[in-house]
Amino acid sequence: MRSTVVGSFPAEESSPSNFKDKLLNTFGSYDPFKEAIKASVIAQLDAGVDIISDGQVRGDMVSIFTKYIPGMKIEDGNTVIVSKIRNPTQEISINDMKYAKKVMKEYFNGNIPEGKGIKGIITGPNTIVHSSRIQSFYKNKEDAIIDLAHSLKFEVDAIVKKVDPVYIQVDEPFLSTGMVDMKVAKEAIDIIHDGLEVPLGMHVCGLLNDAFKDIAKFNVDILDMEFAGNNVNLGVLEKNASLLGDKKVGFGCVDSSVNEVDDIKDIENLVLKAIEIVGKDNLILDPDCGLRRAPKDVAFEKLRLMNEIKDKYS
Ligand SMILES: [Zn+2]
Repeated sequence: MRSTVVGSFPAEESSPSNFKDKLLNTFGSYDPFKEAIKASVIAQLDAGVDIISDGQVRGDMVSIFTKYIPGMKIEDGNTVIVSKIRNPTQEISINDMKYAKKVMKEYFNGNIPEGKGIKGIITGPNTIVHSSRIQSFYKNKEDAIIDLAHSLKFEVDAIVKKVDPVYIQVDEPFLSTGMVDMKVAKEAIDIIHDGLEVPLGMHVCGLLNDAFKDIAKFNVDILDMEFAGNNVNLGVLEKNASLLGDKKVGFGCVDSSVNEVDDIKDIENLVLKAIEIVGKDNLILDPDCGLRRAPKDVAFEKLRLMNEIKDKYS
């Protein structure tokens, strides 16, 4: 059994404190999030997480991508599709990931141990288009989703080439809402998976009683879902586990929707049940969703307890 995070970690912007940072600030090149990335990497590693993220500290999961994608613009914080969606104008997450990996390497005195590493995370094309407004060019969301999948593939390939991640995760919370055309959604994920040299994971939030049978058939290697914050999904998994084929399960076992530390007995019971259903070699433990909204010490403690259970049953 290994452990990971869904992605986001509580972050604080810092202000320049030493001469170099003040100088950088003068030229507009001081990065107020660099310390937050470092703190999030160290917290994840201290808590025992095997496959870390860069903390996704820079902001909301949609605009962080759409601000670099031609055809999309941000108005009052919301993304509007205004013309044909094309490849990103620059790499989006590479610098943060490189920095996070550097911090990780230093943490382990130069050699990242076998089984540990960092993953690349992108927000999926279905989720981005469904949370955006089409103003012009596209007659329907589906065509925009396919173009956006090609655009995001550009970023995914850059991550694989330049950061050597353990795997790529696509976040598609909208797939459980019933609003998404599953055939197009699956096609979009296939575009991202095409020729990928590392495993592909997909994170879906929410209740899965209606969506699981479709989602289980997506062409991904890891399917990540939430099991701590609701009492529906575990039953759905138990009944339909055979649909997963040889996929691994990202198993949300701490509740990211409450800002208090989970009872370790609850985590343990959930994980035992998951071991029974899919087997421990097919399990990757993680929180239900990102931990952005939790206080830092609570986020840390959630991850620490999750890893205590992982160690007990690995
Ligand atoms: Zn989520």
